[in-house]
Amino acid sequence: MEDSFYSRELERLAAEGNLRSLTPLEHTGCEVVAAGRKLLNLSSNDYLGLGADRNLRAEFLSSVNQEEFFMSSSSSRLLSGDFPVYEEVESMLAGMFGKEAALVFNSGYHMNLGILPAVAGKDTLIVADKLVHASIIDGIRLSGADFYRFRHNDLDRVENILRQSSGKYRQIIIVVESVYSMDGDRADLKRICSLKRMYGNVAVYVDEAHAFGVLGSHGLGLAEEQGCIGDIDWICGTFGKALGSVGGFTVCSRVMRDFLVNRMRPLIFSTALPPASMMWTRFLLNRMSGMAPLRKHLSEISEKLRDALKRSGYPLLSDTHIIPMLVGRSDKAVEIAGRFRENGFFVLPVRPPTVPEGSARLRFALTANMSCDDIGTLIRFIGTSAL
Ligand SMILES: *Cc1c(COP(=O)(O)O)cnc(C)c1O
Repeated sequence: MEDSFYSRELERLAAEGNLRSLTPLEHTGCEVVAAGRKLLNLSSNDYLGLGADRNLRAEFLSSVNQEEFFMSSSSSRLLSGDFPVYEEVESMLAGMFGKEAALVFNSGYHMNLGILPAVAGKDTLIVADKLVHASIIDGIRLSGADFYRFRHNDLDRVENILRQSSGKYRQIIIVVESVYSMDGDRADLKRICSLKRMYGNVAVYVDEAHAFGVLGSHGLGLAEEQGCIGDIDWICGTFGKALGSVGGFTVCSRVMRDFLVNRMRPLIFSTALPPASMMWTRFLLNRMSGMAPLRKHLSEISEKLRDALKRSGYPLLSDTHIIPMLVGRSDKAVEIAGRFRENGFFVLPVRPPTVPEGSARLRFALTANMSCDDIGTLIRFIGTSAL
């Protein structure tokens, strides 16, 4: 095989400051060890610190019955892989949200890649926020539906589109995230749901990946906080972030669950998650409602960091625990990330094509196992150094 095409592409990426690479890291608590040095991990999605919690892990492991602790499901749930723990987790989720049903997937990526193509085709218009996650874009493309991407959070635009197009399609699906992964801002789900209620054929799909576990008094997400769980047709989330486990899920109607079981290709054609992972998920879900003190601490340290960045003159997009520091050029983002690293902070630059050209940034993701002192040290570094 001729490799020169690929090596030239890599050289081009490197010249633009956009080359990515993998970095193996050891983890202890909210720190990672890179090249022998301990760094505060500001690039983790373990928002409640559950994945890193050794005590919790020990408690879980001492509670498992090894007879049923299967490390593989060995097949799709549609064949013989449907271990009872899946449906237990699903009825827990349905109960927590007060919805009819839930369905678990191998990952949030599978979820977004699979649901939209199952439910949408040529008779559907998908109206999605410009900043939705890559997995949603891939799902939209695979669906073959007509789609329109509106300027980030521009719900006036959505209102116009619904008015113009609701008569032309079997259904219109509004697709948004609740907390956006690169800007750390929120959607106005309440208004989206009130737009939906004006029409008989509009449905709402919300990806709560960054909010599940973090927002709402029981940790269910932004829809809980905004009081509109009942109006959303698919509330989707991942166990891989705040919950410290792995897998994706949607809560929906009973009919929708049955439909997805019949039509959703990533569910049908992939080996289901290990039952052992589902047991860990079940263990954590049982405790999620009681984790309000962790959510409160996370929200307090996030506010401190946002205030500090604002004081240092950075434009502030975020109102959550995901806090970007906008620097503009990719090479500058890489350089500043290096300076943070030299000073004990592991924070990654986010560059195009993940974010728009010219808006490269450092993306701080805070986790509830960071102490006020940790954040104080970070804030002092941001305030004093010549970044
Ligand atoms: C991380 C993420 C996903 C993917 O979830 P995984 O479980 O990690 O595959 C989907 N949607 C959004 C918005 C995400 O941030």
